[in-house]
Amino acid sequence: MVIGLEVHAELSTRSKLFCGCSTAFGAPPNTQVCPVCLGLPGVLPVLNERAVELAVKAGLALHCQIAPFSKFDRKNYFYPDLPKAYQISQYDLPLCRDGYVEIAAPEGVRRIGIVRVHLEEEAGKSVHSGESIVGSEYSNIDYNRVGIPLIEIVSQPDLRSPEEARAYLEQLRTTLRYIGVSDVRMEEGSLRCDANISLRPRGSDELGTKTEVKNMNSFRAVARALAFEARRQAELLRRGERVVQETRAWSEARQETVSMRSKEEADDYRYFPEPDLAPLVLDPGQVERWRAELPELPDARRARFVREYGLPPYDAGVLTGSRIVADFFEAVAARVGDAKLASNWVMGEVLRHAPTEGGEVEAIPVSVQGLAELLELVKRGTVSQPAAKEVLEEMVHSGRPAGEIVRERGLEQISDRGALEAVVDRVIHENPKPAADVRAGEGKAIGFLMGQVMKQTQGKANPQQVRALLEERLRP
Ligand SMILES: [Zn+2]
Repeated sequence: MVIGLEVHAELSTRSKLFCGCSTAFGAPPNTQVCPVCLGLPGVLPVLNERAVELAVKAGLALHCQIAPFSKFDRKNYFYPDLPKAYQISQYDLPLCRDGYVEIAAPEGVRRIGIVRVHLEEEAGKSVHSGESIVGSEYSNIDYNRVGIPLIEIVSQPDLRSPEEARAYLEQLRTTLRYIGVSDVRMEEGSLRCDANISLRPRGSDELGTKTEVKNMNSFRAVARALAFEARRQAELLRRGERVVQETRAWSEARQETVSMRSKEEADDYRYFPEPDLAPLVLDPGQVERWRAELPELPDARRARFVREYGLPPYDAGVLTGSRIVADFFEAVAARVGDAKLASNWVMGEVLRHAPTEGGEVEAIPVSVQGLAELLELVKRGTVSQPAAKEVLEEMVHSGRPAGEIVRERGLEQISDRGALEAVVDRVIHENPKPAADVRAGEGKAIGFLMGQVMKQTQGKANPQQVRALLEERLRP
């Protein structure tokens, strides 16, 4: 399998690429438009500097070369969602090129090449009365999205399986979110992916005829569509037939790809330099300033978590999988002064309660201070681990501080030596047979006595202290 992916990601700018219209998601249709993005006669585009900054930062995070000189081109095609009948894109001189993304593979880390990252504008959104344009009675068009800045990230055909394609997309999403250039939500359409796939005999260097697959709206759909398309092509080739170079659409309802149109070539778009925009000339000093603003990237941060906090690589991977989780963990660990305790709680209870979207954590359900306060209580032995889990659940629901919940529910562990000694002595007195067994060196009976102490204290006794006291009293 030879797979290459083209990913479009909307950039998180406040205004569009060539006009001042808002990019906010979810506004009523056609309320965020102006003569520029509607392509009315006589208007001129003005480049959004922030979009250039975000595109360059994406390129830097993907280890690309940043072109000191690039330019914009018109990509001409006629479609209702494109009011100018051309899209301003970058053709032969993209902003970034020759980068890579590293993914985890069974044989170790695999480096997936990136051919280019270029800047372009978004088209509008067609809303068909039926499931697709075929068979719909009418279509509405929302131009709010027209002109939102996009980066197109084109990979080398380095991917060898649907699983690798998915791992690549996940890594790309994590990276783009880390650096804050895009919110990368596939469900809201701010991340889209087209896939090119072909087959060839194992060991061959020659590329087979490829098909392009579109219309996949989740990472899982990408993996399924590629698996389907590989099977379809393999059957054709086994029968001695040819694969037709074409664009196919993934049908989620039918779980198969269907032919959309024959593949268009670059010539069909009649690219030519955009006459309304000057070439983009970047000052190298500016690029370096943007590079210096990049946060620590996920791979580097994972390695540091292993080194600095002594965490297992798997735990470090989970914690750095999303920037907000990594930031939260580090802040809690610093306050509590115990990285292992913080990582156990963040990976377990906190992530269990965290809202996710498409497998990625969207928000942390408690504050840094809130969790740190709770973990202090655990560390001091004021609450037991099971009680602390109950407290966290209440904190998530009500947002109230840990100490208050512990007091109100009477969850304090009894760690007072005098109070515990009285209960322990009573239990030993009331249970002479098990006590004698422990004295005779039968360790198992101590569990029974501990159970009795816990019962008499309604489970609030500090178990470590109870065990220590029992051992002290009954040491053979
Ligand atoms: Zn506009």
